[in-house]
Amino acid sequence: MIQLSSSEQHFINKLRCGPPGFEFSNWAGTFRSRPQFYLAPETENEIIELIRIANRHKLTIKAIGSGHSPSDIACTNSMMLNMDKMNRVLAHDAYACTLTVEAGVRLYQLHAMLQQRGMALSSVGSISDQSIAGAIATATHGTGIDFGDLSSFITHLVIIDGTGKRHECDANTQADLFNAARCSLGALGIITQVTIQCEPSFNLHAVQTPENLDSLLDDLSDVVYSAEHVRFWWFPHTDDAVVWRANRTTMEKQPSPESFLRDRLYGFHYYQLQLFKARFTPDDIPRLAREHFDTRFNRKIEWIDDSFTVFNLDCLFPQYVNEWAVPWENAAEALRQLRIWINAEARNPKGVRVNFPVEVRFVKNTADVWLSPAYGQIVCYIGVIMYRPYHKSVPYKKYWRAYEDIMRTLGGRPHWAKAHKMFYYDFVSLYPRFNEFVEMRKRCDPNDVFVNDYIRRHVLPPDHPLTRGASNDSEEDKQGHLLTFESANL
Ligand SMILES: Cc1cc2nc3c(=O)[nH]c(=O)nc-3n(C[C@H](O)[C@H](O)[C@H](O)COP(=O)(O)OP(=O)(O)OC[C@H]3O[C@@H](n4cnc5c(N)ncnc54)[C@H](O)[C@@H]3O)c2cc1C
Repeated sequence: MIQLSSSEQHFINKLRCGPPGFEFSNWAGTFRSRPQFYLAPETENEIIELIRIANRHKLTIKAIGSGHSPSDIACTNSMMLNMDKMNRVLAHDAYACTLTVEAGVRLYQLHAMLQQRGMALSSVGSISDQSIAGAIATATHGTGIDFGDLSSFITHLVIIDGTGKRHECDANTQADLFNAARCSLGALGIITQVTIQCEPSFNLHAVQTPENLDSLLDDLSDVVYSAEHVRFWWFPHTDDAVVWRANRTTMEKQPSPESFLRDRLYGFHYYQLQLFKARFTPDDIPRLAREHFDTRFNRKIEWIDDSFTVFNLDCLFPQYVNEWAVPWENAAEALRQLRIWINAEARNPKGVRVNFPVEVRFVKNTADVWLSPAYGQIVCYIGVIMYRPYHKSVPYKKYWRAYEDIMRTLGGRPHWAKAHKMFYYDFVSLYPRFNEFVEMRKRCDPNDVFVNDYIRRHVLPPDHPLTRGASNDSEEDKQGHLLTFESANL
């Protein structure tokens, strides 16, 4: 039982947010936790005071953004900091094309702040709900072989470490801390401010075309350079893919030609119902994939809009998701192996049926962000998803195991935000600076104030007192909350 002093109690009460007994859940609803204290600080000084309280009472702290990480990386049962009130613009340098903001700013707020000043992010992922600190904590990325992940856009940041000490760092000041902190999984401290390298605002011209997977894989080195930003989705159980290419343009906006009937009524409501029914008749899934592709994607479309609108897309339903980055020259091999596995499963009456396209994106070598999956290499991110129609479970674990085996043997590194089964020794061999990161964590957080289950499982070395005797299974593995579904494939 924690005995807070009356002034500590008063201070904490002032920052409380959320309903009593608040339960945190990530966006997909796959991980939950019940923080003892759910607080919304507004200033750095408040954060420093909370870290001191945590140290005095042996509490741990987790700052969260929008809770969009598909793993338990943002979960804690101790003290959770909602950073939504720290969303102000602090400085604008029009000449350098940078904006300094508080770290709780959501990306959609950031786009508006930038647009008002004639600037934009150079690359954005599929959504803009994340906070900037949450996004860089896991090296969130968009696509484009000449564009880095969001962590690589940060030119300066302020971080409060586990002793309550405030650090300002950039490429010249505390450079090691800077390069570790730009993708730090929340393990080094609480980031309160970031300066972001932007570019003048721009429209993007997107062209989306149906193409054959084999042709894409045979010519991948041409495909990745065929536009500034390229991504594609392959529809398992078919050889079809949809390629999205986008280039900067000075042409006027021509918004996306969305049809209510095709994209909303069929593409969302009817499709979700079909996916739900397919939980009981999985053999329908290959037919559904074909029908979905033919109805929505088997034609060329193009549109022009604000860059961030074109980068983003509708992610439809809750989902299980797994995504790894492989050196981009291994991408075609990875996709070919995945197709062989999925096709073999499709021939097995009890095999897995994959209900969502595989997403393929490219990211530039982000040479100096120690834990970026693109550290030292151009990467291809291959994302696998299984939809959860109406939040219901579907079998996915066998698929994940096969996918991870392929990615691991081809030199893959998992996306930090997504649930994975890679641990300390794996990362030591995958990331040349991983041990330095672990040392930096020890210096920044000597009392393990920022350690949650995710950090303990995946980052702490085996000789750390918190890892001894602890299981490497996540709550999901332990509770098996997904095992309510009847299929043997889970
Ligand atoms: C529908 C959907 C689409 C997505 N699309 C993409 C995509 O296109 N590309 C991609 O790469 N990823 C994508 N993701 C993953 C997402 O970008 C990451 O999970 C991101 O980390 C989420 O940001 P968040 O603000 O929700 O952070 P949270 O999930 O809340 O937290 C993530 C981590 O950030 C830490 N953190 C948050 N704030 C701070 C702070 N102020 N200081 C220190 N640490 C902090 C947390 O402690 C935690 O460790 C997607 C996820 C979903 C659900």
